[in-house]
Amino acid sequence: EQAAWGALRNEQTVSTDGRHFQVVANVGTTADMTDYQQSGAEGIGLVRSEFLYVNQSKLPTEEQQLQAYKRFLTGVHEQRVVVRTMDIGGDKQIGGLSLPHEDNPFLGFRAIRIGLARPETLRPQLRALLRASVYGRLAIMFPMIATVEEFKRAREILDEEKRKLREENVPVASNIEVGMMLEIPSAAVMADVFARDVDFFSIGSNDLIQYLFAADRGNRNVSYLYQELHPAVLRTVKKVIDAAHAEGKWVSMCGEMASNPLATPLLMGMGLDEFSMNGSSILHIRSLINSLNTRQLQPLIHKALRASSAQEVQQLVKRYVPKVD
Ligand code: PEP
Ligand code: MG
Repeated sequence: EQAAWGALRNEQTVSTDGRHFQVVANVGTTADMTDYQQSGAEGIGLVRSEFLYVNQSKLPTEEQQLQAYKRFLTGVHEQRVVVRTMDIGGDKQIGGLSLPHEDNPFLGFRAIRIGLARPETLRPQLRALLRASVYGRLAIMFPMIATVEEFKRAREILDEEKRKLREENVPVASNIEVGMMLEIPSAAVMADVFARDVDFFSIGSNDLIQYLFAADRGNRNVSYLYQELHPAVLRTVKKVIDAAHAEGKWVSMCGEMASNPLATPLLMGMGLDEFSMNGSSILHIRSLINSLNTRQLQPLIHKALRASSAQEVQQLVKRYVPKVD
């Protein structure tokens, strides 16, 4: 089976009824680019830029960040690279930035909330990204967006930095896509409104599921509530995809659910455009997508969205797609 997947390394990801899907990689450090070359990925769907911040005594400089982003962009041969701005804070202490102690760090001061409250941390990152943009096809996304105002403010700051760079005669690409992580239920509820302003959504299923079920994703006592196949998750994902498509925007998923083979037929059938995952899962998911027909999956989607439990959905998937496990 592994050998058969290997043959798919340079292939496209296309369902049997001819729909093309992007299967791309999540990367955490520039060292991951070595694995990337072997993975068969059609681009990078998530750069977790936190690696530049954690275990450092100081915040990374604009120059250090520029070098890192340039390495990702030049390593992918014209394919798209989606970089997420710093998703730090809460439970992660960062050198060079004193963050308050919090009783509920996952509901606290993290990610874009820090970036907007202390723009001096976000601006150098955006400048580095804008300067790197001329080396490839860059997309930027903001993590933990809860309200439309947050997204608009983040985008405004980005536009301000772009303007400043142009005034300094620093070249900046004109085709940078700007999107957001969709990982907070309020954003899912408002997806149709967000969809007018974003270029794309990337569904962070890890956090989205944690917040949908109000169950800490790292707490074993409540891990039974972490259910990727639950109809509550599927309905939320469907709503987000439909809202984006109604505005002509694309949707990726970069949480763990994107590499769960039991979820693949459901995500395909609901029209997800891009699956972003660890490099080691890419060929497996590609081979699965290449064996399925999105039209034939519609009865499964219809039933799964009306099911009452994750277990019921799992049984439906196995009934409609016996080769999946
Ligand atoms: C997610 O929440 O699904 C995600 C991809 O982000 P992270 O796991 O880095 O929080
Ligand atoms: Mg997340």
